[in-house]
Amino acid sequence: MKSLRARFIAIILTAILAASLISCAATVSGPGKESLYREGEIETDPAGPATETELPTDTEPAAVPATETDTAPATDTGAATETEPADTTPPDVPPEINYDVNAHLGSNTVLIDAGHGYADPGCTSKYLGGVYEMTITYDMACLLRDELNKRGYQTVMLRDGESFPNEGEIASRARALGMTVKENNINENYIFHAYERTLWADVMNRDTPFALMISLHVNSLPSAEEVRGTEIYHCVDNGCAAPSELLATIIEEHVRSDFGVRVRRDGTVWSDSYIVTKWTEMPSVLVEMAYSTNPDDAKLLFDEEWRKEYVDTLADSIDEYMSKRG
Ligand SMILES: [Zn+2]
Repeated sequence: MKSLRARFIAIILTAILAASLISCAATVSGPGKESLYREGEIETDPAGPATETELPTDTEPAAVPATETDTAPATDTGAATETEPADTTPPDVPPEINYDVNAHLGSNTVLIDAGHGYADPGCTSKYLGGVYEMTITYDMACLLRDELNKRGYQTVMLRDGESFPNEGEIASRARALGMTVKENNINENYIFHAYERTLWADVMNRDTPFALMISLHVNSLPSAEEVRGTEIYHCVDNGCAAPSELLATIIEEHVRSDFGVRVRRDGTVWSDSYIVTKWTEMPSVLVEMAYSTNPDDAKLLFDEEWRKEYVDTLADSIDEYMSKRG
């Protein structure tokens, strides 16, 4: 009798422990919001139009809301609600340019942004076997870093997987450099939000100018699993619009010719641009390498050979860009 009771208590304790672990995982790895990279568009589907010929427009109605949430396990629902920041962003307009838009010329240091990370895991899908976007982007970023180093570039990883300065540190460094800090933008109570990430990139850029920034991501469109391929985004109306477009165009050509997949380059206007492409004071592109929601693409994301080839293609593109920039 005593042993049965002990066993019963043990079962209860195990259940409690399991429940707390599940809730912990939900907090740490809740569904990501690609839209955190957008401004004031919390529910907008970042994947964009499903066909290459369809042009993105500002007036396009918001697509399927929160696509990445669709794929999240039920236990993550609470975390999604908790981590979604309130949209308190004031109307956003291009700022007066108060930085040297040519500072990137002459630099051979590449800033690599492994999309998402820390409390923001990014997207996932049933084809990724529990792996989240932040893990894939970090692995690809490390490969790109190593390849670029081999080719003689200096590299800086925006996210190193270990630590990141807090909002206060970033803000005080920025102010010391005479940069304008929009408190509403950085104080989202969301670790490593795209604003902090971008402001930190700009702070580092003021110290040692970067040649360019490349932000790596994995795409997601559960409502159309047949959609696959690469998408490249760049802002067309910030201080470094022209070199950003040049870089994006070169990447587009290289990916298309090396992989023969659908590639879409999207030159977005200020109001529709990703935060990391418009607020950065350097040529900047965001590359959605492949779709986690397409079974073939998802397989490639785990294929070492494909990863290496993809990174080589990006490095080839950067080589060509560096030889063509002003
Ligand atoms: Zn992403």
